[in-house]
Amino acid sequence: MQDKLTLMIPGPTPVPERVLKALAKHPIGHRSPEFQQIVKRTTDLLKWLHQTNGDVLTITGSGTAAMEAAIINTLSKGDKVICGENGKFGERWVKVAKAYGLNVTTIKANWGEPLDPKKFQSILENDSEIRAVIITHSETSTGVINDLQSISKHVKSHKNAIVIADCVTSIGACNVPMDEWGVDVIASGSQKGYMMPPGLSFVAMNNSAWEATKRSDLPKFYLDLQSYKKTVDKDSNPFTPSVNLYFALEESLLMMKNEGLESIFNRHNRHMKATQEAIKSIGLSLFAKEGFGSPAITSVQPNGVDAEKIRKTVKLKFDILLAGGQDHLKGEIFRIGHLGFVNDRDIITAVAAIESTLEQLNELKKPLGTGVATATKILNQTKN
Ligand SMILES: *Cc1c(COP(=O)(O)O)cnc(C)c1O
Repeated sequence: MQDKLTLMIPGPTPVPERVLKALAKHPIGHRSPEFQQIVKRTTDLLKWLHQTNGDVLTITGSGTAAMEAAIINTLSKGDKVICGENGKFGERWVKVAKAYGLNVTTIKANWGEPLDPKKFQSILENDSEIRAVIITHSETSTGVINDLQSISKHVKSHKNAIVIADCVTSIGACNVPMDEWGVDVIASGSQKGYMMPPGLSFVAMNNSAWEATKRSDLPKFYLDLQSYKKTVDKDSNPFTPSVNLYFALEESLLMMKNEGLESIFNRHNRHMKATQEAIKSIGLSLFAKEGFGSPAITSVQPNGVDAEKIRKTVKLKFDILLAGGQDHLKGEIFRIGHLGFVNDRDIITAVAAIESTLEQLNELKKPLGTGVATATKILNQTKN
């Protein structure tokens, strides 16, 4: 049906009407005092969201712009770095790092498994020249959450290295206390937990990260964070930012502030659990290792049924867009996004749509309604 699409992919995520309406306003001058006030208010709210006293800089560009900015501002050609790689986005970190001539050591885990913090510890303990540990917190391609807290702890006992984390699908979904965990640089993007359209990305920097910028010799201009820092301190931007996306950002951050961090994390946790248990109860498997599922996304392995067929049928019958598997996982898994502007109704509906689809494909192994019953039970047990 036209105009009835429900996004349940891990970005772009659904956008609240209040945020959409903000986008429809006339642009205002980006050097006007009115706009400066918006920069000031959104910057304060971004710091609240990241639980940091450091800086959070806003870039017009997608999440990858924030990832690239993180690398080119804190590192130098030939620097030794460790990249965690257990999915598509971990691979992206490796590609960006190599594009800029960094000396990359990768620590891998099988797709579906989390990175092992001890492997980071042992390399760090034996090499004082490592300059950065670069990882993906919530690996969107597999639905795995990595142990950013433990990995950061190991980096803190190393004298030269900083931690750079892609928190694109963890910020606004689960607890990422930047200062408490000592994460030095965090990259994120607007079309994920921020409940916004794509177009803005964010780089959070603490003092150690700024210290690292002093020796960084990689080429940069549009993504030179010194110029973002200089201007944000005057409630402004180095270039013309997406003014309308800033309007949207303020609305979405105010909605998040209103809901409160604890409630946001609790909501994502409930939705993750309800989705996981419902999927298991209808005889499908979870792709992420038990206990390491991402609060933003659940990867499903339908055991012998073509995952793409399920995904396409759900889209056709119910106008719900699920994500497919990437690379070698295409056809092997599908992914249910439950990130951002998602409520209990969305979860129940998605589970019902998947059950109904399996029934139609003659692949439902359990009585129709089992998944909805399971999800309902969990959602009722754990109130928001
Ligand atoms: C979406 C996403 C990104 C950013 O991708 P863009 O398309 O550049 O916005 C980066 N990392 C992860 C884990 C993501 O899910």
